[in-house]
Amino acid sequence: MSSTQILPSIDKTHKKAFGPISVPERLLLGPGPSNAHPSVLEALALNPVGHLDPFYISLMGEVQELLRYAWQTHNRLTLPMSGTGSAAMEATIANVVEPGDKVLVAVNGYFGNRLVDMASRYKADVITIEKNWGEAFSLEEIENALITHKPSLFAIVHAETSTGVCQPMEGIGNLCNKHGSLLLLDTVTSLGGVPLYLDEWKVDLAYSCSQKGLSCPPGLGPFTLNKRAEEKLNSRVGKVPNWYLDVSLLNKYWGSDRVYHHTAPVNMNFGIREALRLLADEGLENSWSRHRKNAEELWQGLESLGLSLHVPVDLRLPTLSTVSIPEGVDGKAFALHLINEFGVEIGGGLGVLAGKIWRIGLMGHNSRLENVQKILNLFETELPKFR
Ligand SMILES: *Cc1c(COP(=O)(O)O)cnc(C)c1O
Repeated sequence: MSSTQILPSIDKTHKKAFGPISVPERLLLGPGPSNAHPSVLEALALNPVGHLDPFYISLMGEVQELLRYAWQTHNRLTLPMSGTGSAAMEATIANVVEPGDKVLVAVNGYFGNRLVDMASRYKADVITIEKNWGEAFSLEEIENALITHKPSLFAIVHAETSTGVCQPMEGIGNLCNKHGSLLLLDTVTSLGGVPLYLDEWKVDLAYSCSQKGLSCPPGLGPFTLNKRAEEKLNSRVGKVPNWYLDVSLLNKYWGSDRVYHHTAPVNMNFGIREALRLLADEGLENSWSRHRKNAEELWQGLESLGLSLHVPVDLRLPTLSTVSIPEGVDGKAFALHLINEFGVEIGGGLGVLAGKIWRIGLMGHNSRLENVQKILNLFETELPKFR
């Protein structure tokens, strides 16, 4: 550029003089994200390294090992997708669904419907079985649908964050095996907080997220698939119709070849490594029982305040509890009051449960007795103002 050249004048319309970021303090007791663990935040704040740096490559292996532990699986293809839980959700569908494949989806909440939407975008022939939002599926209902429709894939949500239901998993994998269907499981709100045994349950594909039970900020979507699902992937006629989420390409980076695919979100992987390390350090059994114990405290406390839980106790999810909003109470106004006056977030209902329930999450590092007491105190002192 010559010094005499005259540049066009700069348009300053969007040049705003903002101060440096300052985030209000929040206690996140909604459906996610949960608060990040302080040492996860420290890991995120480290300087990045190159995504092909030998240090980083060994860190990738550590993340994979810890994910296998958290999920109780030996699956080779276990890695965090760059994206939130929905990216990993889409990855499971994109990799094993071919146009015209029959995909059976169990819908008893918001996230079952998202699976339906995704599978239909990948041109599956989608069939659903449905239950009321707040109920779970029986083995008989699942087997009848498998016999009638003979799907190549059956998808179900383990922990329905929109309803607070934990789907009992015993026996479902055997039925899928018997009827020649792959089993896809959404473990977004169960990983780390609820007993979960992918291999034992014969789950073929699963996904999760970083920001709920793992107490890492949103940005990674753990993904896994087993040998049976790999066979389906390898027998595809056409390419996986999503370049970014194609696990055969990703495995050239996460596997032994270390071929560049996309620049890994290095710091997010620092964060999830720390989150998974903390989980392993505590031990799955201890984390699961901590979540259970604190959820039971919450349920008892809410009931003793005269409130009722939306889900019967044997199906209740320890990581997310749903509370019926009492007659005449403006649920949204109450939740807004909690965040504005106390910096405490709880969630409202989705879909058919909008305006009917609150959703209280006790996930990961947030599942602590002091938080249970805090939210119970707020219900006790503040809710009467909304009656
Ligand atoms: C949160 C959630 C998702 C989606 O994850 P994002 O990280 O929001 O993309 C999927 N399934 C369930 C059950 C969830 O709770």
